[in-house]
Amino acid sequence: MSRTVANAVPAIPDSPDPDPLALARALIRCPSVTPDDEGALGTLQRSLEPLGFACERMTFAEEGTAPVENLYARIGGEAPNFCFAGHTDVVPPGDRALWTVDPFEGEVRDGRLWGRGAADMKAAIACFVAAAARFLGARGAGRMPGSISLLITGDEEGPAVNGTRKVLRRLAERGETIDACLVGEPTNPSALGEMIKIGRRGSLNAVITVDGVQGHSAYPHLADNPIPRLVRMLVAIDGTPLDDGTPHFQPSAVVMTSVDVGNRATNVIPSRATAHLNVRFNDRHTGDSIAAWLHERCAAVGGRFELSCECSGEAFLTPPGPLSRVVADAVRKVTGGQPELSTSGGTSDARFIKDYCPVCEFGMPGETAHKVDESVNVADIDALARIYEAVLQGFFEESRCRPPAT
Ligand SMILES: [Zn+2]
Repeated sequence: MSRTVANAVPAIPDSPDPDPLALARALIRCPSVTPDDEGALGTLQRSLEPLGFACERMTFAEEGTAPVENLYARIGGEAPNFCFAGHTDVVPPGDRALWTVDPFEGEVRDGRLWGRGAADMKAAIACFVAAAARFLGARGAGRMPGSISLLITGDEEGPAVNGTRKVLRRLAERGETIDACLVGEPTNPSALGEMIKIGRRGSLNAVITVDGVQGHSAYPHLADNPIPRLVRMLVAIDGTPLDDGTPHFQPSAVVMTSVDVGNRATNVIPSRATAHLNVRFNDRHTGDSIAAWLHERCAAVGGRFELSCECSGEAFLTPPGPLSRVVADAVRKVTGGQPELSTSGGTSDARFIKDYCPVCEFGMPGETAHKVDESVNVADIDALARIYEAVLQGFFEESRCRPPAT
């Protein structure tokens, strides 16, 4: 189905184009739903190469997962290497009939840029490029005080197996160092400048399976009903707080996401009951210690049960220091406000980057991320590009006094 859009979308830039809005629109026009790229990384690469970035595509595939394309771009050969990190993949638009715009058109209307990925996080990637272009342009060719790099994956919204983690490993294997990293995830709850993320809670998914013996509900003594035992386990878990927070983290939380028996019969005691939990935990715990804690709670109830746990990321913190100060100063310089340093919210690829260098996150307001009619303020795109440029200025100034700056 074709539709007419009042404001024509500019062609994909193939020359130095410091206009972050034009690049953000071009990126949104690539329907890069994980794991498809649909030209998103090529669009980005074509905007970086004229600036002098050496661009390297890294494609990773693992059995059972779709191959994923990633882009690592770097300008400069010296330390310190400041890295902007992010992802060009997006979540599916869902039911398109619910959208008031085409999710992959990059429409600008009412002072906002609309489309899947506008907030999470194609506008931020466009701002990386604009900031780098302006920073390099202002200094003149050959006067790079270190290196700027972009690590952009096509596998963040999916399993995140063939993305950032593998790019980082490859860089480390060849001795390439990243000294500090800013991830462009949408970190602001509603207004640009509100919040910088300096860490993230860990996340663990658990499944408790309680087995009993099936039987007739009129003869319960001949059966072993797993439901009351599962309920007692859940009460034991729910009734015990994990902690009451730490200096930079909110209290850890166990959230029950599903309880399933699947029994349609009114006169049958089922043989199995399961519960699914998601635990968001702070820096007092690890995935292993949470699993042990859950096991202890269930075992105290007794009977046969199975507990399976999968930790998708440990809690981590880049303590307030040079990097968060540089980012906060840049935010304050452009917006006039003091951002909160927070560890709230979900996980991001920063959970892999933290193993290599200090990492903070700052991007667009995220209130429409993953939603129908995802959109961002055009004025915020302009401001974010200026913030990222100020981050580069601040970082390389700081690194002159404190090599390598972190
Ligand atoms: Zn994201």
